[in-house]
Amino acid sequence: MTDAPALLTRLTERLGRAHVLTDAADLAPYLSETRGLRRGHALAVVRPADTAEVAFTVRACAEAGVAVVAQGGNTGHVGGGLPQGGIVVSMARLTRLRAVDPVNASITVEAGMVLSEVQAAAEAAGMLFPLSLASEGSCRIGGNLSTNAGGTAVLAYGNARDLVLGLEVVLADGRVWNGLKGLRKDNAGYDLKHLFLGSEGTLGLITAAVLKLHPRPLSRAVAFVGLASAEAALGLFRALRDEAGAALTAFEYMVPFGLEIVLRHRAGARPPLAGSHGAYALVEVSTTRPDEDAGEFLAAMLARAHGEDRIGDAALASSEAQARDFWDLRESLSEVQKAEGGSIKHDVSVPLSRLPEFLDRATRACEAALPGLRVCAFGHFGDGNIHFNLSQPVGMDRAAFLALWEPFNRIVHDIVYALDGSIAAEHGVGLLKREELGRYADPVALDLMRTLKAALDPRNILNPGKVLPIKVLPGEVRPGFDV
Ligand code: ZN
Repeated sequence: MTDAPALLTRLTERLGRAHVLTDAADLAPYLSETRGLRRGHALAVVRPADTAEVAFTVRACAEAGVAVVAQGGNTGHVGGGLPQGGIVVSMARLTRLRAVDPVNASITVEAGMVLSEVQAAAEAAGMLFPLSLASEGSCRIGGNLSTNAGGTAVLAYGNARDLVLGLEVVLADGRVWNGLKGLRKDNAGYDLKHLFLGSEGTLGLITAAVLKLHPRPLSRAVAFVGLASAEAALGLFRALRDEAGAALTAFEYMVPFGLEIVLRHRAGARPPLAGSHGAYALVEVSTTRPDEDAGEFLAAMLARAHGEDRIGDAALASSEAQARDFWDLRESLSEVQKAEGGSIKHDVSVPLSRLPEFLDRATRACEAALPGLRVCAFGHFGDGNIHFNLSQPVGMDRAAFLALWEPFNRIVHDIVYALDGSIAAEHGVGLLKREELGRYADPVALDLMRTLKAALDPRNILNPGKVLPIKVLPGEVRPGFDV
């Protein structure tokens, strides 16, 4: 039997009373996600000031056999940071910028820095930290790394994983692994950082990172393009990729229903094109070369595509303000879906070559399963990653619609699986897709994942019950620890 009061006393003595929260009102913001679909529970939320205090907390919890759930900005979508008992370790006070090295093109930050602050610190050094996502004003870099966040800059710069040179991690027994080397080449043994990146806090707690910086683009151009179909979008993408290479920094996609609801609900949104089309793409080209003009470059490419009948229509942003307006049409899509009632969401990826087939098959199958259903597919087309969201039929009861999440998972994920795709592209697994991972993952891969988990967290105290489908081992601490 665990002595929870003794653990809380021990943590309070080290961290201070103000940083061990136990009142229900103080805990509430840490116990649900922004989507609000489910609630967790916890013994306490602790707010350590630095790595040493994180390590102390984890060691104390390990000795008491109490679960530890790390939390950053709590902006996740899959319940990865949702506690099911135990102690929430908030990284919100680990906000130091430890070092900036423009020559090495790297920056060393603590896990609690808000993503937009990391971007600002890079900018102050005359560089770019390219990770960019809708929640960048409140998500924290430790959460971005532990979920291997994607976002809108993956096409050019890669996922969060690709932006990391080194990590500092608190392990399940409270030891600290200092892997904060800013090296671009290091084959001295296994590359341990990749174990923790994307592991959603189940293998260790990331407390600091050395991140890669990139040169800042000197000019960028953004266009909104109307196309006949997803197939046409793929054709345009290929042409732009082949011609622009690394200068193609975004290729985002949305179906007509997506643009329709943005224009309906987003204050100030204006139609970017005169007519209506079967599909839409937002295209961005950037260049770091002073002798190149991104606008001229993109205009010439689009004119050629138009001449070859690849596209229906295109509007090239004529100012930075208009470029921001175009991006806003895309980025407000998640938000405006709420105004259309319940939404069943899928975050999937397939090989680019199969993306039009996925969109066609999944759309037809979902529409056939529930007449009146409105498919709101959008996302990072150039990465093969689509947010395949389903808005409820008009007039249907919201709860009755959301109760169909499971059957729609089966329809959409079966198609993803058949096309060699992934059921968790950029939002992670958390609680929401844990059983789906068990259903679709290669059994050998699952076995390896369990082996890693057992080796790095033998008592199962790090974010228990997340990512891996539950298989209770003898002596294991069960998720949902209760006193
Ligand atoms: Zn996304």
